[in-house]
Amino acid sequence: MDKYLKALKQNVCAICVDSNEKGGCTLNEKESCAVELFLPQIISVVQNNDSDDIQELHNKLRETVCVQCRAQENGNCYLREDANCSLDRYFSLIAETIRRVDEEIT
Ligand code: SF4
Ligand code: SF4
Repeated sequence: MDKYLKALKQNVCAICVDSNEKGGCTLNEKESCAVELFLPQIISVVQNNDSDDIQELHNKLRETVCVQCRAQENGNCYLREDANCSLDRYFSLIAETIRRVDEEIT
């Protein structure tokens, strides 16, 4: 799990609008990042779907992760609608990073 987290910090946190100039997260303790919160589920969605269609993968992620997330109600998510969920915002980069880590291992 650490290797995924490390790669995501280097690739995603570094460009995230919620990070500082050193790539450190600026969310406070009352806010949580869905990328960290749901990392095992995100990895599993990416690893169990080898489709090149990123939209299909994104839909699977929403079916798996968003249904478990407190921010979503009746299929609507106020964070996603305001582009405030880093998982939704950077999903293609997140999926690509996870696949790259897996390629390095195998
Ligand atoms: S919000 Fe998430 S993706 Fe963005 S810097 Fe913080 S931990 Fe990284
Ligand atoms: S898009 Fe909304 S429901 Fe889905 S993980 Fe992000 S905050 Fe949670």
